[in-house]
Amino acid sequence: MRVLILGGTTEAFQLAQRLAGDDRFDALYALAGRTQKPLLPAITCRIGGFGGVDGLARWLVDERVSALIDATHPFAAQMSRNAVEAAAMTYVPLLRLQRAEWQPQPGDDWRIVADMAAAVAALEQQSQHVFLAIGRKEVAAFIAAPQHSYLVRAVDAPDADGLPPQSEIILQRGPFALVDELALLQHNRINVVVSKNAGGVAAYPKIAAARQLGIPVVMVARPAVPQAPECADIDAAFAWLEDLLRPEAHGEKSSERGV
Ligand code: NAP
Repeated sequence: MRVLILGGTTEAFQLAQRLAGDDRFDALYALAGRTQKPLLPAITCRIGGFGGVDGLARWLVDERVSALIDATHPFAAQMSRNAVEAAAMTYVPLLRLQRAEWQPQPGDDWRIVADMAAAVAALEQQSQHVFLAIGRKEVAAFIAAPQHSYLVRAVDAPDADGLPPQSEIILQRGPFALVDELALLQHNRINVVVSKNAGGVAAYPKIAAARQLGIPVVMVARPAVPQAPECADIDAAFAWLEDLLRPEAHGEKSSERGV
């Protein structure tokens, strides 16, 4: 069965690796092409956009894809929207594989905001040492608050003209360890962390470290995406794919298609 995985997350990579060893599946892995040295699984990979909803729908049909897994990052909302629309247009079954959100724990001091502009507005007026752990795409929003100094962590360096004036960059890819995150926050005298509510374990230690040190976190909430069948772990995604292999599932699909 031909499966397209929209990737870019740990879970997408792990699911792809699992399918790589299973000859019932012919899986393809798609990446937007944002990172210079992406982690590529041992299946056929395709790098670059599809050309919007129509491009993705055409691709699903041309490549005879029988199942679509949207395992993109919870903040890759455009791709998730496109997946819902293209799957509906082509009757390709879609499953969103998305890890659960982080929830505040006792001792956490979160300021939950809707987007990056609101995260900028949530910072205090007086100068602070801010840890920006939001990737590189939206760092430019903080140019609007030049009174702060920023420690920017990303996998690839942000464009120099998209950085606030007092910025230091560290290039690192997770998973991160609590002991290192504690040292990073203390060494850089960080007094506020800005994070997306990405969920998962790899990026969580900065949140645990902030809690331990009594540092507030400006937590950007996930963007809204249209409803789709969803699961939170690889085992459930794998079971969903196995279910589609059952003859009854083919029957359902054919009748939906009017075949
Ligand atoms: P986005 O804003 O939702 O998507 C913008 C466009 O990029 C899409 O319309 C699509 O182009 C293309 N695209 C996105 N994901 C793709 C994929 N897996 N395969 C092929 N094309 C893809 O996405 P984004 O926030 O820029 O994220 C891009 C990628 O980075 C995603 O794969 C995501 O999983 C990963 N990522 C994102 C974040 C984050 O915070 N946003 C964090 C970690 C990893 P077309 O319309 O031309 O098809």
